[in-house]
Amino acid sequence: MEPMKKIAIIGLGLIGSSIAHATRRGGLAKEIAGHDASPDVLDRAGKLGFCDTLHADIGDCVDDAELVILCTPVGAYKGIAAAITQHLTKDAILSDVGSVKGAVIRDIGPHVPQDVHFIPAHPIAGTEFSGPEAGFASLFDGRWAILTPPAGSDAKAVEKLKAFWLGLGSQVDVMDSTHHDLVLAITSHLPHLIAYNIVGTAHDLEQVTEGEVIKYSASGFRDFTRIASSDPTMWRDVFLNNREAVLEVLGRFTEDLTQLQRAVRNGDGQTLFDLFTRTRAIRRAIIDIGQDTAAANFGRNKS
Ligand code: NAP
Repeated sequence: MEPMKKIAIIGLGLIGSSIAHATRRGGLAKEIAGHDASPDVLDRAGKLGFCDTLHADIGDCVDDAELVILCTPVGAYKGIAAAITQHLTKDAILSDVGSVKGAVIRDIGPHVPQDVHFIPAHPIAGTEFSGPEAGFASLFDGRWAILTPPAGSDAKAVEKLKAFWLGLGSQVDVMDSTHHDLVLAITSHLPHLIAYNIVGTAHDLEQVTEGEVIKYSASGFRDFTRIASSDPTMWRDVFLNNREAVLEVLGRFTEDLTQLQRAVRNGDGQTLFDLFTRTRAIRRAIIDIGQDTAAANFGRNKS
């Protein structure tokens, strides 16, 4: 794609800094401008050098940008949208990377000027780390980015944002925000809730000391601790902003868990075996489409 004149990244943590790195790698913009509310983050971003210009003032960052991407926790979006609305240029694209989409449309939509194209997006890529040091250029390579343009969005603007995400290394899908929120509730939000819960429960168990939880964490529990170390602010905001879809899948999950509880109590090995066989096939399918490694223990050296 033709390099854009200027892109503005608001929030320079894991995702914002990764977008900056990948934009530079792909030669997708002549100027990568960055803003963060935290002076400390701005300072660290300056030392890391992934932006061409850094701005303590959010308006300066957004001025004349062809593309503005919000990369902060979604709870901050409303205030940011109100602060930048006067600075958005005619025909600019306003986008984001938030893990929920319906609430983002609700919070940002009313602030978007008529001549600006508002196209929310969500890269299905990340790690459990946060902050500007955590970002890297290949984060989006081969991963999906989902665009959720509201009804009536300008087709050319959607194509332009699509080309940008392809340039970052992603594959791109377009879907309705409600569908996105339901899909992500089961594939991402619920697994995080379960991980936070199981690690919390283990920590609370009086018979198992904290030392033992850490010492014997070589099995499945360790994978839960990785997920449960994800950024608390970001995940608090996800659950506050995708309540209905999370409650829907949590309801189904709880019913299925009760069935498993019954199978364990009744010694119903067939039910357990059938489920475990089905879930193993799902793991195989994820590896087959290249979304994870087939290496034992996720390719880690130690067990
Ligand atoms: P992060 O590493 O914590 O970075 C967020 C940055 O935004 C921080 O530097 C934070 O500063 C800053 N910030 C907070 N409020 C702000 C405001 N009002 N104005 C300007 N900057 C502000 O988080 P992240 O993992 O990059 O996540 C950012 C977004 O990406 C979230 O909406 C999340 O849902 C989405 N996302 C995350 C992942 C993932 O795996 N992490 C994957 C896909 C999408 P302070 O640290 O000082 O608060």
